[in-house]
Amino acid sequence: DAFHRITSGPANRRRSIPVDVGGVRVGGDAPIVVQSMTNTDTADVAATIAQVAALAEAGSELVRITVDRDEAAAAVPKIRDGLAARGIHVPLVGDFHYIGHKLLADHPACAEALAKYRINPGNVGFKAKRDTQFAAIIDTAIRYDKPVRIGVNWGSLDQELLTHLMDENSRAAVPLTAMGVLREAMVVSGIASADRAVELGLPASRILISAKVSDVQELIAVYRDLARRCDYALHLGLTEAGMGSKGIVASSAALGILLQEGIGDTIRISLTPEPGGDRTLEVKVAQELLQTMGFRAFLPVVSACPGCGRTTSTVFQELAKEIQAFIGEELPKWKADYPGVETMKVAVMGCIVNGPGESKHADIGISLPGTGEQPSAPVFIDGEKRMTLRGANIAGEFKTIVAEYVAT
Ligand code: SF4
Repeated sequence: DAFHRITSGPANRRRSIPVDVGGVRVGGDAPIVVQSMTNTDTADVAATIAQVAALAEAGSELVRITVDRDEAAAAVPKIRDGLAARGIHVPLVGDFHYIGHKLLADHPACAEALAKYRINPGNVGFKAKRDTQFAAIIDTAIRYDKPVRIGVNWGSLDQELLTHLMDENSRAAVPLTAMGVLREAMVVSGIASADRAVELGLPASRILISAKVSDVQELIAVYRDLARRCDYALHLGLTEAGMGSKGIVASSAALGILLQEGIGDTIRISLTPEPGGDRTLEVKVAQELLQTMGFRAFLPVVSACPGCGRTTSTVFQELAKEIQAFIGEELPKWKADYPGVETMKVAVMGCIVNGPGESKHADIGISLPGTGEQPSAPVFIDGEKRMTLRGANIAGEFKTIVAEYVAT
């Protein structure tokens, strides 16, 4: 194949039980799946369709929507149908808290339209009602043949379980720290709920677990433990990761370490958007995380040097931006005609210091002239210098070379 770095998952991937979520395989040896969540009011059908469509078009392979009340549950089939009318068939995941059992029972069309139910064992029911409400949701999942994610979150942890574990811990010969008990409660809550669902008749191949916290080190510790103690498919996400670069860095650090250890079958990067900000950023970050780690490929990578005093202008940055935009525009057509094109690497470098070396590591690279250099730009293809561009139309000529490379 022309693009020689076809990516795969981590070599030491944990063997989880694969789950089919509306036609998207999660776990086992399936590629790590990217998912996201809307922040529209689900009862607002038009707004939710628009956001789900944007997320799906950005590359989200599953999209979760909150189902918090009757109006939202009634909207779900309309959203699914509205998306289908636009040719979008991304599986929808319903996010249920407190009254999921009631909403699913009262809205069979919603239960049918969703591809997966996410339930939170910390609020599925309290005391005497817990078991019957949990069982009601699992019964619905069995009836409609839907998978369920047991989504534990330390912000809404099962308080009865936590109290019970704290009591036990106080009598233990070697007690855990308070944080250790909290971690244990999260892991036990997830696995015990999943095991209970299996007892009730839901196959293990219809169950995923997540256990989200907002602290990077705690998240890593919880998931390592979870991965060791069960073989259910795992959904990864750092909850409340935060805004801007903080959220991106925290999520990437936590998820990157777990993925490198072979843990995680699907990921969501939970970013707090700026007011009016781009919701699809969480999808792009998730894709970039997986691609930068070499586990999946979504879009050809354009690498550019950071620039320094050796560059006389921002020409190379502008070229890098232009090439990225050009690839984005051409990609849908290229993907159809040239499978594997998404693994291509293009380097745009500011001068000869690292230009030729970096360009040789890419499929195609160009090194623009730095301060005091000859006004020429050598182009490297498959590690070899093939030509030198000069003059005012370097960008246009380089785009043609990239297009020709893709087509050959
Ligand atoms: Fe500076 Fe050249 Fe290195 Fe780019 S490649 S950062 S211009 S020395």
